[in-house]
Amino acid sequence: MKERQLHKDTKVIHEGYNDKDFGGSLTVPLFQTSTYSFDDARQGERRFSGEEEGYIYSRLGNPTVHVLEERIASLENGGGALAFGSGMAAVSTLLVHLTKSGDHILCTRGIYGCTFGLLKIMAEKYNITHDLVQMGTEEEIEKAIRPETVCIYVESPINPTMELVDLHAVVNVAKRHGLRVVVDNTFSSPYLQNPLSIGADFVLHSATKYINGHGDVIAGLLIGKEKDEIEKIRLTIQKDYGGIISPFDAWLLIRGLKTLPVRMERHSSNAEKLINYLKKEKLVDEIFYPFDPDNPLYEIAKRQMRAGGGLISFTVKGGKEAAQLFLDSLSLIKIAVSLGDAETLIQHPATMTHSSVPEQDRLQMGITDSLIRLSVGLEHAEDLIADLESAFRIVEASVSERA
Ligand SMILES: *Cc1c(COP(=O)(O)O)cnc(C)c1O
Repeated sequence: MKERQLHKDTKVIHEGYNDKDFGGSLTVPLFQTSTYSFDDARQGERRFSGEEEGYIYSRLGNPTVHVLEERIASLENGGGALAFGSGMAAVSTLLVHLTKSGDHILCTRGIYGCTFGLLKIMAEKYNITHDLVQMGTEEEIEKAIRPETVCIYVESPINPTMELVDLHAVVNVAKRHGLRVVVDNTFSSPYLQNPLSIGADFVLHSATKYINGHGDVIAGLLIGKEKDEIEKIRLTIQKDYGGIISPFDAWLLIRGLKTLPVRMERHSSNAEKLINYLKKEKLVDEIFYPFDPDNPLYEIAKRQMRAGGGLISFTVKGGKEAAQLFLDSLSLIKIAVSLGDAETLIQHPATMTHSSVPEQDRLQMGITDSLIRLSVGLEHAEDLIADLESAFRIVEASVSERA
């Protein structure tokens, strides 16, 4: 049969696995093993020297994990991938690989809280510094580059404000200055956005979120443009720092990934229905969603994303008190951090995910006390809207009581 590129919807189910290699097992077998026996001492020698391919010990490789890595590499149009025990293990391994003492990292103004924590450790202990900058235009990015800068680290959409960064602009600047580009693609998933195809060098995922999609695994993935570089990271930093994934969690991710396209379509269509509802709600001030035609960055969203995804943020009138009462008045929607699950989750960034960010920085990033982040799940949109509606009416009654 002629080689033809399969669609992502097909790749999530078949890529990187041949059932005939595993006795016809329809699903990928779980290799719950720590080590592998050699036929003889010489084979052990050949495996260790790299003369012969094959498994040695599960920190260095495992057949179940291998299928996951092949599949995600293909979904992100990368040359290779590595799986980790958490998103943060993927972030830390990559940053250790890319930097040495004295280097500088340029980051988007909003980055995941623990990534920020890691950058602080790197600055304090290893003299690897960073700047968090607004990346609205190529000029803005260019201005922030220093002689010591080695990479640009980007999240888009940015958590929790859902602000977008133009990935084409970042790549253009990076190419001019010989810098590597890293994109944390967790919020979009590989189904909605593929930064490597735009010219990024590395993509990271907290697979805990959309890739697994069922709220029962913590895991991370790193995909690189070049297979050789990924294999080098595997045999150096990943092997020696040790933040690998367990075979069972890899198996669960393979299972969750099969429905990623179907889930992302539903998350996105549900989110659009909720946006339309929220726009009519008088207690809502502002709404932030990539694929909202009223979003000033809608053109950027359409250029780099396939759909808007399941995350919405919005502000409510009445500040922190109203925001907290609103959360407490919901019943179907759960108050929880994390995102990308079947269940709709809601959280208050100022007092939860971003509570450790100094107030001034938080406000500068647009994370006010009125901001609420919603991870729209897979339930029926009408049931979600009914839950939101009844909570808004409780908030309204409480406000008029006090007036
Ligand atoms: C959750 C998250 C992480 C960290 O991933 P863990 O799997 O929790 O370690 C990193 N980046 C983003 C954008 C996230 O949402």
